[in-house]
Amino acid sequence: MSEDIIIDEEKNRKLILREYRSLLRIANMQDDEDLAQVRKAFDIALEAHKDVRRKSGEPYILHPLAVARICVEEIGLGPTSIVGAILHDVVEDTDMTIADIEDLFGEKVARIIDGLTKVEGLFDQSGSLQAENFRKILLTLADDVRVILIKLADRLHNMRTLGSMRKDKQLKIAAETLFIYAPLAHRLGLYNIKSELEDLSLMYKTPSVYNEIKEKLQKTKAVRTRFINRFTQPLRRELDKLELPYEIKGRPKSIYSIYSKMKNKNIPFEEVYDVFAIRVIIDSKLEDEKADCWKIYSIVTDFYQPNPDRLRDWISTPKANGYESLHTTVMSPSGKWVEVQIRTKRMDEIAEKGYAAHWKYKERTQQETALDDWVSRIRDLLENPDTNAIDFVDDFKLNLFAKEIFVFTPKGDIKALPHNSTVLDFAYEIHSQLGNHCVGAKVNQKLVPISYDLQSGDQVEIIRSKAQQPKEDWLEIAVTAKAKSAIKSKLRVERKKVSKQGEQMLKDLFAKKGIKNIQENMQSLQGIFKTNSLQDLYYKVGSGQIELENIMSLRVVNGKISYKTYKADSLKTLEEIVEATRGKKDALVIGNQQELKYKLATCCNPIPGDEVLGFVTNDGTIFIHRVNCPNTIRIMSNYGYRVVKAKWDSKESITFLAGLKMNGFDRTGIVNEITKVISNEMDVGMRSITFESNDGLFEGVVKVYVTNTQHLKNLRDKIAAIEGVMTVNRIE
Ligand code: MN
Repeated sequence: MSEDIIIDEEKNRKLILREYRSLLRIANMQDDEDLAQVRKAFDIALEAHKDVRRKSGEPYILHPLAVARICVEEIGLGPTSIVGAILHDVVEDTDMTIADIEDLFGEKVARIIDGLTKVEGLFDQSGSLQAENFRKILLTLADDVRVILIKLADRLHNMRTLGSMRKDKQLKIAAETLFIYAPLAHRLGLYNIKSELEDLSLMYKTPSVYNEIKEKLQKTKAVRTRFINRFTQPLRRELDKLELPYEIKGRPKSIYSIYSKMKNKNIPFEEVYDVFAIRVIIDSKLEDEKADCWKIYSIVTDFYQPNPDRLRDWISTPKANGYESLHTTVMSPSGKWVEVQIRTKRMDEIAEKGYAAHWKYKERTQQETALDDWVSRIRDLLENPDTNAIDFVDDFKLNLFAKEIFVFTPKGDIKALPHNSTVLDFAYEIHSQLGNHCVGAKVNQKLVPISYDLQSGDQVEIIRSKAQQPKEDWLEIAVTAKAKSAIKSKLRVERKKVSKQGEQMLKDLFAKKGIKNIQENMQSLQGIFKTNSLQDLYYKVGSGQIELENIMSLRVVNGKISYKTYKADSLKTLEEIVEATRGKKDALVIGNQQELKYKLATCCNPIPGDEVLGFVTNDGTIFIHRVNCPNTIRIMSNYGYRVVKAKWDSKESITFLAGLKMNGFDRTGIVNEITKVISNEMDVGMRSITFESNDGLFEGVVKVYVTNTQHLKNLRDKIAAIEGVMTVNRIE
């Protein structure tokens, strides 16, 4: 090792320690445990970034230390955020995982680092869709606002040290900062950070414009100072009499805000009248704040004529980001409009550094509570885009956010979906095949049915089964156009396949029976079996809803189906048919729609194989109930005459919804096993599944599509055989 490197290393070591110590001094932590945590974070980060240097050549660790310092000094955050800031690049750059962080620092810090890593990942991923990124950042905000605050500090430090980056990178980062981070800082009430980010962005994007304004501000400084002194002189005289400590500042506005005004109004620098604002800051007791501020207002307007259109009272109704102040614009003796901002010391600190700043000197618990309150305010603000109080930079961006939810894939990728989207929508969003075979999902590790309503921030893992097929009622579960059209097209394909089979079956039958394949015969069949279209006829034949035997038993004369006799038959009234079936002691055959329309009662959900009976209502509809349905017993005793016998057509192939309720001992993997059994069972489709576990016991309800009781019994037996399952019962 050469002498130079040793000297360099030694110099760096000293530099790092100096920065670390100065951070501790500023943070002024009293709690030993906080100190220990920060120390631990520092040691880990130091080791993690050991051989890494920034573009500027500095040791990398100086960056996280600087970010932590911004968090404390300029945002007013506490120990949790300091730890988060110091560790913010550790997971990215080393083998350390979120789980490691959690072991070492607990859940809160781990969540913050996880959020920071996710946000970072998003930026690397796309780079093109900036509005998209903006929304993603807002989403993580809902989790812990510290993520955003640390991210802002990170970005601020990167902007301050942007000089050593390549020109094209500078432009990209500057644009991103202007579009995303500065508005975010504004939204969070971090006025100083917002202004600095904007000014730095402008400096890198259009240095000529930036420098021009800067120079003009410099040149006009003396004139401005003189003007301000003259303007404030009478005010000071009156204020001195009040015995209220005060301070008057006359500060130029930021370069960027002057630039915006020049651009928006298309005027030169010289015509921007509010290049500066006068700020009167008083040291008032909390309970006197409002009255004192208005007292100052009264003094100011005693000397200068106010413009009533430009009075802003953000003390009575603070801005949503926490900003409180009283603004007025008054006419100076020289005829120039001057903005005067009146506020207390407390309000000023919040305005400059954001809401967290105010709590800096309070107890730790108090500080955390206050931060949480603030977070929930921000969250409310995001959730209620209609609130007038919100002066969002761009309503459009917010609306995008409000109408959509954001959910994560198991790998942490983000998907945007409309509100009320279900698990099924998510599955189709990823891939139509995944949608077609979706039986449910694990949302945040909990098993949920396909109809589950997703919430922003949910992590969704789709469970699929080869046996699964889209069902008609999926169209009501799905919300997105993408899912709906995929389901429809799959149903159509399926229907077409069955129709094709039906068409072929009819053709074969015609050939065998000597029936002519002509339009007239097809029309007769449609009339006899009451189908809506030829395709419908084919489909019903293909799916077995119309049995070939029934067609074979039709009378055929000269290759033509004789329809008339059937027509006569079908003209019988419903009562006659019911009477006929009763008289013959023959049961109503369910599933064969050629004679009677029926509906399955929803109270007991009968399925083939159940003992059933029919009940004729006033309007002639026949409802099929299970014999042991409680409603049946009531009906039997009151309306016995309306009851008809019914039995299932054994060739029935329609699927029915049935429910199973189960309970047992909860153990890892049991839910998975149960879903697996259901998925593996041929022809069983899962409609919904819910599981709850409590004190080592679980209770689950599964709704499935089955074709008959035997089918359901098989499934029940298989579930009952799973280790840990105690009982499985059909829901009555
Ligand atoms: Mn960083």
